Amino acid sequence: MSYSAAPDEPSPARAVRGHLVTVVDDPDTAGEGALVEHPDGVILIEHGRISAVGDHGALADRIPPGTPVDDHRGRIVSAGFVDTHTHYPQTGIVGAHGTQLIDWLDTYAFPAELAFTDAEHAAAVARVFFDTILRAGTTTALSFGTSSASSVDAFFAESLRRGTRMIAGKVLMDRHAPAGLLDTAESGAADTEALIARWHGVGRNGYAVTPRFAPTSTPAQLAVAGELLARHPGVLLHTHLSENLAEIAWVRELFPDSDGYLDVYDRAGLVGDRSVFAHGVHLTDAELARMSHAGAAIAHCPTSNLFLGSGLFSLRRAADAGVRVALGTDIGGGTSFSMLRTMGAAYEIAQLDGVSLDAPRLLYLATLGGGRALGLGDRIGSLEVGKEADLAVLDPEATELLAYRSARTSSLEELLFVLGTLADDRATAATYVAGHPAYLRD
Ligand SMILES: [Zn+2]
Repeated sequence: MSYSAAPDEPSPARAVRGHLVTVVDDPDTAGEGALVEHPDGVILIEHGRISAVGDHGALADRIPPGTPVDDHRGRIVSAGFVDTHTHYPQTGIVGAHGTQLIDWLDTYAFPAELAFTDAEHAAAVARVFFDTILRAGTTTALSFGTSSASSVDAFFAESLRRGTRMIAGKVLMDRHAPAGLLDTAESGAADTEALIARWHGVGRNGYAVTPRFAPTSTPAQLAVAGELLARHPGVLLHTHLSENLAEIAWVRELFPDSDGYLDVYDRAGLVGDRSVFAHGVHLTDAELARMSHAGAAIAHCPTSNLFLGSGLFSLRRAADAGVRVALGTDIGGGTSFSMLRTMGAAYEIAQLDGVSLDAPRLLYLATLGGGRALGLGDRIGSLEVGKEADLAVLDPEATELLAYRSARTSSLEELLFVLGTLADDRATAATYVAGHPAYLRD
């Protein structure tokens, strides 16, 4: 395998040939037309963007002479995956035994995050994280940093080097955590302002104002977060919401005047169409209705909800309420960096809710649905002209079992579904970032 950094110059023209598969709209509303495939297709890439996409037979003449053509015939070429909730600083504590949310934070997450005041440590973990997600075909992530600004500097510097489209932010946390992780309302705001000035819109990086969750911020800090969000129209709001029952009870204790968990954020001006809330497992109907009205999005993190015993998210209830939903890995509470594994876990949780998600819906949640949740639906998430050429190339013969099973599928939808059930990062044959090969398995 090999990794390479993005070139300093815009990528030269390149063509990628293979079995193109993409979802260009929400299958729930657009129906069968949402899933588009070209069994022998080609993507022409110029200056990092898709300039043409379609059947190879129809487009071969348009490929300029001398253009390199990467031949992935027999493999599925998809838009790169979008992970709408993760914590890169928790890469080293994935799969930690024995606790649920609040204990898990104290026992594993906070000690790991304390180390990120060391810029070299932060840079080293960022490198591992980027290597790992690119190997899984993920080209965009919305990630927490730690409360240390150096954690965010390391993440965005690595993203700039790789040319990836990434969103992250410094954790705002001024109570209920180890002293070494606490900021204040004032210092958190100053650090956030400085990081936005340093990184937002630099390369393909974007910023998210990131209070950890209601229990670790004073009302004063949440109010400051709302002011930051209002002052910077291009940045997102990224936090946790209604993940675990003990957490919800704690929020009720800490904010007795609020009308529930979402209302704590709402009163601070944090619930809007640039807001991404991780989990939302235990939301009330009124909270879902409020989120729908505000245009806020939920990052559903199925492997994390299972691993931490948080509960079973109902995609059906969120969809019925008209709330936008996408998928997140929630590393290190989640158990896999692979969005294919995450699609499989989302399917399993929906099964317990009486719903059988089909392959186009799962692929939408992991690609364009994620892009839309992050306000990037016009730039990433599907194979369409004008979009940024972030691609995941998937090999249906990556393992002996996958090859055996794939050979016994009779439709594209069945093949995609089997990938979501059986495949993981071993199925990523290549990952392209802005048209540049960022990971090649072979
Ligand atoms: Zn999380």
